[in-house]
Amino acid sequence: MSVATLGVQGRCAHCQTTLLLKPWQLNAIAINEPFTCAHCQKSLELRCPKQIRRFRSLDSLGWLRFSASLTVCTALLVALVMEWIGLLNVTEQLNASLIVIFVYFALMRLVHHRQHMTLTLDAVRSLDD
Ligand SMILES: [Zn+2]
Repeated sequence: MSVATLGVQGRCAHCQTTLLLKPWQLNAIAINEPFTCAHCQKSLELRCPKQIRRFRSLDSLGWLRFSASLTVCTALLVALVMEWIGLLNVTEQLNASLIVIFVYFALMRLVHHRQHMTLTLDAVRSLDD
């Protein structure tokens, strides 16, 4: 699991406690395995397809974060080089850099916001039902 999954919370169906999910619990969710609630020790699983889809999108958020940093570095470098070779003046270069940095932070805020989610975990259906 990547750092993107940090900050994911889960609400237990048995005791209604909201817990910050640990890496091993996130792994269990990722491979569709039931796991026990840290509070009441009862089995839980993520069954809602909508939430599963949202959980799976976390990995692409991590990738988005990485590629955004890479794009920003490239854009800043390009603006600097363009200033050196005379295609931009200092003010234009500064403006371009500021816009790039602003867009980057706006994107990171969005990513950060989407990462913090609370999953509603379901009780594992027992076989004798
Ligand atoms: Zn519980």
